[in-house]
Amino acid sequence: MTNSPTPIFDGHNDALLNLYRSDTDDTGTPEYSVFERHDANHLDLPRAREGNFAGGFFAAFVSTPDADYETRETDEGHEIPYADPISHERAKAHTYDMLAHLYRVEAESEGEFRVVRTPDDLRECFDDDAVAAIAHLEGAEAVAPDLSNLDFLYAAGVRSIGLVWSRPTEFAHGVPFKYPATPDIGPGLTDAGRELVRACNDRGILVDLAHLNAAGFWDVADISADPLVVSHTAAHELCPATRNLTDDQIDAVADSGGVVGITFAVTSLREDGRKDTDTSISTLVDHVEYVADRAGVEHVALGSDFDGATIPDSVGDVTGLPDVVAEIRDRGFDEDEVAKIAHENWVRVVEETWG
Ligand code: ZN
Repeated sequence: MTNSPTPIFDGHNDALLNLYRSDTDDTGTPEYSVFERHDANHLDLPRAREGNFAGGFFAAFVSTPDADYETRETDEGHEIPYADPISHERAKAHTYDMLAHLYRVEAESEGEFRVVRTPDDLRECFDDDAVAAIAHLEGAEAVAPDLSNLDFLYAAGVRSIGLVWSRPTEFAHGVPFKYPATPDIGPGLTDAGRELVRACNDRGILVDLAHLNAAGFWDVADISADPLVVSHTAAHELCPATRNLTDDQIDAVADSGGVVGITFAVTSLREDGRKDTDTSISTLVDHVEYVADRAGVEHVALGSDFDGATIPDSVGDVTGLPDVVAEIRDRGFDEDEVAKIAHENWVRVVEETWG
């Protein structure tokens, strides 16, 4: 396959975790640098350039302390123990640190890497060949339950909030990791969750439904005035894991004008749901094609989960993105359609939500 010049905008990565988890020097600065190659991880700036990575949603994710994330075998498949909730105070402290890392990288990059806050910022990055970063919260625990720091987070550049990771919060219930099972596990949004969706709509903050259970998904679909967005997920019909969208959910995203970002996590892509990295790019693109065929090519994009998930060896890291695009092209999508899947659908939804 030949490399494609098509710029790729990506719906989800956890590259900030590499900075957050790094050892630090005497001044507290991480020893890890995104300006150098780190082949053990998925995403840094030198490899982003090789992979035509134009930008994406950079997640601030806070783990549950001492959680057991080991996969357990069940009679039919497997599951991961449901993580306990985390406190607002813990989430706030970690999230503010991760946002600080994001802005330090922006400052050190001298214009090569930019945190984007407006549709114009995003377009300028494409024009200037700068990497665009959208500050995203993966799980809303850093938002105070009374929303009293939401304006501060907005002022700090946060333009996308996932209501949950896969655990309960004050706002909603994340879906437990389980295969095979539907996402219809647990209750819908709390009153605070409904208020948060409305408050995000009012401010032009994108609401991400990734990791949400089915009841919460349908509550947001009822409440939200903006296109529905699921940043990193896949088709339940092809891989019946709880993290994936059922056909009626895919249809609802399309009806709202929204976007489904296809994850590269092998446990969401493979028919057997196994954490097996011997997974083809073709298996990944099957999900892209499924959503495009069912819902329309305007409603599917990429949401890699680089540095947050176990991805196919066939992709490897961010430098594998052009091979994914080449496989999409090989399925018969024309250049306009490839551009929509690679970046234009994300740009459209961001513009509609922020604009
Ligand atoms: Zn995730």
